Amino acid sequence: MTKKTILPGQTIGIIGGGQLGRMMALAAKHNGFRVAVLDPARNAPCAQVADLVIAAPYDQYDALYRLAEESDVITYEFENIDYEALKWLGERAYVPQGAELIRITQDRIMEKEALVHAGVEVAPYAVIQQEQDIYDTIDRLGYPSVLKTARGGYDGKGQFVIREREAVPEAAELLKNGACVLEKWLSFEKEISVIVSRNPDGQQTHFPVVENIHVDNILHETIAPARVTEEVADLAVEMATRISETLDLVGTLAIEMFLTEDGRIFINELAPRPHNSGHFSIEACDVSQFAQHIKAVCNWPLRQPVLLKDAVMVNLLGEHIEPIMKAIPEKPDWFIHLYGKDVPKEKRKMGHVTILTDDMDATLDSVNGAGIWKV
Ligand code: ADP
Ligand code: MG
Repeated sequence: MTKKTILPGQTIGIIGGGQLGRMMALAAKHNGFRVAVLDPARNAPCAQVADLVIAAPYDQYDALYRLAEESDVITYEFENIDYEALKWLGERAYVPQGAELIRITQDRIMEKEALVHAGVEVAPYAVIQQEQDIYDTIDRLGYPSVLKTARGGYDGKGQFVIREREAVPEAAELLKNGACVLEKWLSFEKEISVIVSRNPDGQQTHFPVVENIHVDNILHETIAPARVTEEVADLAVEMATRISETLDLVGTLAIEMFLTEDGRIFINELAPRPHNSGHFSIEACDVSQFAQHIKAVCNWPLRQPVLLKDAVMVNLLGEHIEPIMKAIPEKPDWFIHLYGKDVPKEKRKMGHVTILTDDMDATLDSVNGAGIWKV
């Protein structure tokens, strides 16, 4: 692929108009780029801030063709893009991230194989094609184990934790959606993540290792930096670097990890895009994950992001909208982000709050005591 440097005034095309696309677009606008977005919803979060909206399904070829015609470079905000469509697009437009990373990360089976190939640890797992495969492997993996659909899952959807043999038939319902992986349930000390950015010239940087707290399988809170030893943080960065290099990353790769009591790190999963656990970087770092992503796909030089201040990021789901609106007058030090989604459905990611802090424990207590999130 020929490398191109994209300059202000040129157009960045984004496939997907959700909050990640919106925050990418806002970063791009800071640099003076034009933004075109492809999303089925004309009023999608990114569409509200883009210069041009192509309202069509992601895999509609004439819509992709239109995006290609409008854009000097094309990126994406989510991994469930049709691989063949993205490959096709790459032959007609400049898509520096390629389609290979999408092919791998949209399928947990391929993703795990790629991770093993990169020489990093993953939880013991088995590929499951039929119910019998679960019976054949679960004794080796042990209870509990979690069955995950290979494709299409997010925020804990498409997963079933098997705690006893009797639950296998119920879990096997997931096979209706195609092949699955069965994974040993790890008793981890912490979940951490690292976000790596890389440009076509091969310059690579990473954001500080952060700590993630999930509630009902959805990210609730990110603590930056992670409260881990320097040794653990170095290991996490080393693993993230190895994975990104093996995959020949261009753009952004978020790497979710489990840290166990004995200091071992297991890679959970990859996201080939900016990630919810990197939202803190908008205020807490000297360059945000979105600004860095735009620089990376435009082949601008990258400098290692610096954490200016410790931070907590807390997600706002549908059920938190009413209380956060009431809290606004009392929270001058909260950076409140809302994504412009109209229906505050329960569990739907509507926005987030970032708080910069000199006293992490006190800030975490104040978040818990704010009466917005049930903890
Ligand atoms: P999603 O695509 O929904 O984010 P994940 O595989 O990251 O799927 O699973 C969601 C959450 O479920 C994880 O962040 C973690 O809290 C928990 N989880 C998933 N797999 C395991 C496992 N093997 N051991 C322990 N916890 C797990
Ligand atoms: Mg996850």
